[in-house]
Amino acid sequence: HHHIDYATPEKVHAALAAGHTHAHIPAYEPYADYVQNGGYATLTQLRSSGDWEAVQETLLASGLRGLGGAGFPSGKKWGFVRANAGPRYLAVNGDEGEPGTFKDRHHLERTPHLFLEGMLIAAWAVEAARVYIYMRDEYPAVLDILAREIAALEDAGLVAAGYIELRRGAGAYICGEESAMIESIEGKRGIPRHRPPFVAQVGLFGRPTLVHNVETLHWVARICREGPEILSAVELNGRNGLRSYSVSGRVAKGGVYLLPAGSTITDVIAAAGGMALGHILKAYQPGGPSSGLLPASMDDIPLDFDTLQPHGTFIGSAAVVVLSQEDSARDAALNMLRFFEDESCGQCTPCRAGCSKAVQLMQAEHWDQDLLEELSATMVDASICGLGQAAPNPIRMVIKHFADEI
Ligand code: SF4
Repeated sequence: HHHIDYATPEKVHAALAAGHTHAHIPAYEPYADYVQNGGYATLTQLRSSGDWEAVQETLLASGLRGLGGAGFPSGKKWGFVRANAGPRYLAVNGDEGEPGTFKDRHHLERTPHLFLEGMLIAAWAVEAARVYIYMRDEYPAVLDILAREIAALEDAGLVAAGYIELRRGAGAYICGEESAMIESIEGKRGIPRHRPPFVAQVGLFGRPTLVHNVETLHWVARICREGPEILSAVELNGRNGLRSYSVSGRVAKGGVYLLPAGSTITDVIAAAGGMALGHILKAYQPGGPSSGLLPASMDDIPLDFDTLQPHGTFIGSAAVVVLSQEDSARDAALNMLRFFEDESCGQCTPCRAGCSKAVQLMQAEHWDQDLLEELSATMVDASICGLGQAAPNPIRMVIKHFADEI
């Protein structure tokens, strides 16, 4: 891993000219191939004669929702940001720190220009003065690919030199929270801000800021080129659209699987080649550790936004981890809380003290359920951001579904 500072375009060009590269760059669709396959025709057409509100309507018709985990209707964000006077910025969240999530990496290592074109369409829609990509530093191949392909865009004259700034995250989970990410891009310690004001009003450097996840922008480009039906016409179990499920754990073939949004855990496991040999489904994490664990008996729920709410959880970034009879649900939950203890930014007491207190309590042979419930309620009610608010989910779900283990 070379020490390349990607912070300025000059440094990117210098690093590439010096032949710096990472060892394993997967085969991906480079600029020339993308253009040959019709790439950037949509962007060019929109820039010359496009109507951003018509594009927004198309996005809303597709049903596209933010794929970083929150699931906010993507088109609506454009209107919120545009309602505030410029200059405005676009900040792309490529931190992908949710354990078990690797879908953004999957897409970037194959079709980086679908993401880049979607990003430039969004930047055009909100008239962004500048674009910042906050990219996970643990993805060196992705950083190399993006540095190269952004340079190609500059060479082709599609963007001015320096218009797109590639920033490296430094491994803090909390910097995937949009306001903490903005603090980090500004060069400060990454801690979440209080809201309101929302980042659409007061974001990066105090300016209105559009924040999108990497995969969301991949779909913006595809929807603009292929039409909203590529998502809206896919229907399963009463749900519309597609999800990139990152699947790991006790399955035959872990990986990213593009499936209908109405897929159940049974469908997801089938796509991953079934359970690993000798393993029987016991539990699953539907969407990152904040989503906790569901038991095998709940194998018929569509794994989509909103559908898991009645069960006290959510799909988030669709990071599915499959557990079998070889695994302990309480150990998995303890592991999740240890992660939150490590990653809490420490700004507020319910989360900072709550996570470490929970870890202590969860190590007892018999859990003090009343105390854990009380602690969980305090964390949910009083934490500033989603980390502390959702951290108790694994505790509550083990108490509810795996009481025999505690
Ligand atoms: Fe920081 Fe946790 Fe408070 Fe979020 S909930 S602001 S991560 S201490």
